[in-house]
Amino acid sequence: MRYGIFSDVHGNLEALKAVLKAYETENIDEYICLGDMVGYGANPRECLALVRDTCSHVIAGNHDFAAVGKTDVTYFNSNARAAVEWTARQLTEEDKAYILSLDIMVVKTDAIFVHASLDKPDKWNYILDPITVYKNFMLLDRPLCFIGHSHIPCVFLDEERVEFVSRREISHTFKPGDRYIINVGSVGQPRDNDPMSSFCIYDAVAREISIKRVPYDIDNAQRKILEAGLPEILALRLVHGE
Ligand code: ZN
Repeated sequence: MRYGIFSDVHGNLEALKAVLKAYETENIDEYICLGDMVGYGANPRECLALVRDTCSHVIAGNHDFAAVGKTDVTYFNSNARAAVEWTARQLTEEDKAYILSLDIMVVKTDAIFVHASLDKPDKWNYILDPITVYKNFMLLDRPLCFIGHSHIPCVFLDEERVEFVSRREISHTFKPGDRYIINVGSVGQPRDNDPMSSFCIYDAVAREISIKRVPYDIDNAQRKILEAGLPEILALRLVHGE
């Protein structure tokens, strides 16, 4: 069984199409999206529809729930909040009902899938600092946990070691007894100074996890953001992957 696991599409249709194209040669049996289909980019409805068609499991992210009024946006910065308000105006009632129906966590035999973190997943904590990494490993009762949210792809190999993915691809074979927390990075708004979209492949038989990068049509994604009247910074940051 080979899973295609991706996250944080953020309404960037050009990036989502590039990632799905890259997956075509990977013999994927099942796709899982870890949330934040919308917010920031100019094609929230198109991305939502494509993710919905492609994935067997779709998990809600903070931007998805923010766009339907299901999570607090007071901690969002002004650009994120402007994007949430714009996105909410684009979504149909059917889109909103679909988002409201999504779970925030999926648990399988060998892995947990969640947008942000295992500790209070609806509080959208970031797994970045050593204490949060430690707390999440304490809560992890499966070999693997797949997350998104920070837009920084990496593999937490244990409480102390982390492997980053910026400007390269990684592949890991894991042994029985290993436990990993894998951040699959972001399709639509990478933030590790690498503008290429990030996506993950998990081969449950070979016990292998890969994180790969693919370029996409950034110019077109930027043009649409500006034409939509979204904050200019949301277009500019895509070039730098920040
Ligand atoms: Zn996100």
